[in-house]
Amino acid sequence: MPRPLSEAPHLSARLPAGHADQPISQADAPPVTTFQSQGRSARAWKPKHVYFTAAAWEEEHGRRIAERLDGLDVSYEVMKANRLPKLGGSTTRETYRKAKNTLAIVNAPPSQFRLTPIPPSADWQFHLAKGCPAHCQYCYLAGSLPGAPVTRAYANLDQILENNAAYIDPNKDLTTFEASCYTDPLGIEHLTGSLARTISWFGDQPAARLRWVTKYDDVTPLLDLPHNGQTRCRISLNADWVTRRLEGGTADLDARLGAMRRLAEAGYRIGAVLAPLMPFENWQEDYADLLDRLRSTLDFPVDLTFELITHRFTPGSKEILLDWYPNTSLDFDEERRSKKLNKFGSHKFVYPREQMQELKGYFTDRIARDFPEAEVLYFT
Ligand code: SF4
Repeated sequence: MPRPLSEAPHLSARLPAGHADQPISQADAPPVTTFQSQGRSARAWKPKHVYFTAAAWEEEHGRRIAERLDGLDVSYEVMKANRLPKLGGSTTRETYRKAKNTLAIVNAPPSQFRLTPIPPSADWQFHLAKGCPAHCQYCYLAGSLPGAPVTRAYANLDQILENNAAYIDPNKDLTTFEASCYTDPLGIEHLTGSLARTISWFGDQPAARLRWVTKYDDVTPLLDLPHNGQTRCRISLNADWVTRRLEGGTADLDARLGAMRRLAEAGYRIGAVLAPLMPFENWQEDYADLLDRLRSTLDFPVDLTFELITHRFTPGSKEILLDWYPNTSLDFDEERRSKKLNKFGSHKFVYPREQMQELKGYFTDRIARDFPEAEVLYFT
C-alpha cells in the first residue's frame, strides 16, 4: 500500500500542510516515451492576404477564426459582400505566388451540403476547406479546383457538421467520412481550428468515423481531444527522394513519422497513405528505408491501415503543374504511361500494367511481412 507523499521521510519536512495527502503510485505517472521525434517541422503558414466574406464574418466559427488570426498577428479584411477581390496576377507564376499566400474565409455553398461518395477511401466526402498552402509538384488539386490556388476555409462549420449527421446510415455499424479530398486540414489548423472541432464532433458519433490525411506535423492541438476512437488520422508518407524534391512547404519524413507516433500514443487510429508511389531509380531501396523507419517509429501496438496510391496525372493537371513548377523533376512523359479512361469519357495517365503489378507486389509483400497487424485498404 503506497504511503501518502506527505509521509515520505525525505520530503515531508519541506511540504506545506495539506499538500499531496493522496497516495500516489506509478500508475498515476504520465507515460514516459524514450522516442525522440526529430526532423524538420513544416513552417506554420502565415498568409499575406486574408479575406472574410460578409456572410462568413457573421458565422460563429468565422469569428473564432478571426480571434485566432488576431492572436497570430495575421491581418485580414472583411468584405462588404460575398465576393472576394480579384486574386489573379498578370502571369501564371504571379497568380500562383499570390494565391498560395491568400486565405479566404467563406461559407461553403449549398452544393456542398449534398455529399458525394468517395470510394475507395470513405462512404462520403465533406470539406472543411478547399486549397492548401503547400507546394507539392504533383498536387492532386491541380486540375480539380478551378482558378487560382487560393485556400478557402469554411466558416459555416457548424452547419457542415450538422449536415453530416443526416448521412450516417442507421443500418450500418459505421459510416465513414473523408475530410481531406481538397485540402490538407492540418496545414491550416493553426489558423482555423476546424479540424479539432470536427474531431470532437465525430467523438460524439458512435456510428460515424472521420478520416483525414496530412503532410504536416503540428499535431499538438489534437492530442487531448475527446476523439473516442472515432477518427483515423492518416499521414501521407513517401520515400525521401520524393519528399525532398517534390513536396515543398511540408514537414520532412522524420517530422511526419514523429507526428504519427504522437497521434497513436494519444489513442487515435492511424493510417499511412503511401502516395504518390513512383518507380524512380532505386525505388525499392528508398521505399524499404521508408518502411523500416515507419516500423521503428511504431514500436508498440497500434490500429494501423495502409493506402497505396501510385502517381497519375491528367492532361489538364499536367499543364497546370508544368506552369506552376516548370523545373520539376516529376516524370510527366505520357509515352511511359498507360491511358486510363473513366466513365465520363476523360482520361488519366497511370503506370503501365507491369509496373503497377511490380509496385503492388512489392508493397503488399513488405507490409504483410513487416506490419502483420495492419490492413491494406487499397492499391490504386
Ligand atoms: S499537401 Fe496535398 S493538397 Fe497540399 S499541395 Fe501537397 S498534394 Fe496538394
